[in-house]
Amino acid sequence: MDATNTPPPQGEVAARSADRGGLFHTPSAELRSPAPPRGELLSVRDQFPALGDWHYLDSAATAQKPQAVIDAITNAYAHDYATVHRGVYERSASMTDAYERARAASSKLIGGEPGELVFTRGATEAINLVARVLPKEGRNRVLLSQLEHHSNIVPWQLAGYEVDVVPLTPDGQIDLDAAEQMLTEEHRIVGFAHVSNVLGSILDAKRAADIAHSKGALLLLDGCQAVPRLNVNIVTFDADFYAFSAHKLYGPTGIGCLWGRAELLDQMPPWQGGGAMIEKVTFEDSTYLDPPARFEAGTPHIVGAVGLHAAVNWVENVGIDAIHAHERALIAETRDALRSISGVTVYGPDESAGIVSFNVDGVHPHDTATILDDAGVAVRAGHHCAQPLMRWLGVEATARASFAAQSDSSDIAALVEGIEQVKRVFA
Ligand code: PMP
Repeated sequence: MDATNTPPPQGEVAARSADRGGLFHTPSAELRSPAPPRGELLSVRDQFPALGDWHYLDSAATAQKPQAVIDAITNAYAHDYATVHRGVYERSASMTDAYERARAASSKLIGGEPGELVFTRGATEAINLVARVLPKEGRNRVLLSQLEHHSNIVPWQLAGYEVDVVPLTPDGQIDLDAAEQMLTEEHRIVGFAHVSNVLGSILDAKRAADIAHSKGALLLLDGCQAVPRLNVNIVTFDADFYAFSAHKLYGPTGIGCLWGRAELLDQMPPWQGGGAMIEKVTFEDSTYLDPPARFEAGTPHIVGAVGLHAAVNWVENVGIDAIHAHERALIAETRDALRSISGVTVYGPDESAGIVSFNVDGVHPHDTATILDDAGVAVRAGHHCAQPLMRWLGVEATARASFAAQSDSSDIAALVEGIEQVKRVFA
């Protein structure tokens, strides 16, 4: 369960908003940056066969798939399929080649080298991997932020780290001034979401890296929501680890990526044992391959990698900057539209990436989402795997509309009409 179904008492949300020093207030028009011109909007909706006239506003949970990705997956199973790394026959060799090309493309997308990218089941597994096997070097603390997804909190707890939490600025961004003050030489690593999955807040990744490195700590960026929306370059950011999932990037579920600096991956022991990660095995002892193979025990998600590669190609063809500008325009339009409806509270900073959370005063977001569903609009409602952030917002849950390349103004119009319906039902 995401949250209880008890609606917050009427007016409670608005009352809390006042306590937050303006977090939920509508800034005056002149403070808001102008939306990009509408001419920059993309037109790729017809490439998404599952959409039809459905208003899918849950891309932050998982992205819908363009036909090119579906075709790549289908073709891989229908024509090219074989195991990787082990077969001597031709089709296994070409599948291995496809798998390794997918690795190279996924790493290059974020500015990395092929040997620095480990395939995992997703961002969650990527973060667990680092938490589990990164040598602590006598430092047992991790610095996280108040807005982290549970998958960037719980792995550190399971690995025995002491967790320190950086607060947020009033508009919902990680407070890097506070991070600078809080960081000590006991911190092994700083783990921040590059983009918040609830508020869309965008981290200044380079500054976060500079802060981490100033005390000899490492920086892990949870890039799950950033890779589909922003131009990511781990070299420019000077990050040490970067985690993301294919399924939020228009690719398949079950595969994701951990990019890590080569010298760090080299120092990390294996975390799972099995086939494909060993050099030599005896009953007394075994030796292991170099990264990335060292961290990929067992038969991998072969066709997942092919699908991810197709998704990377698709994003590169459309252009990540074009996707960013498109989402930025839609977010500005959505924020303006939601703020013009009385009794709707909008969360997060104006300059946010593709994601906006809101509540209708006095209505539980599950009820909001259910009524929106009746109107053909899919939004997520709940704590979004970010319970500490919900506590900071002073709510149990929010409704969240999240956008992607195929979203358009018709989705926003349907959202607004659906919210008016929510208000009529609860009037
Ligand atoms: N971090 C963030 C910011 C996310 O939004 C998500 C997915 N909601 C995750 C991590 C976990 O991703 P996955 O479930 O694909 O491993």
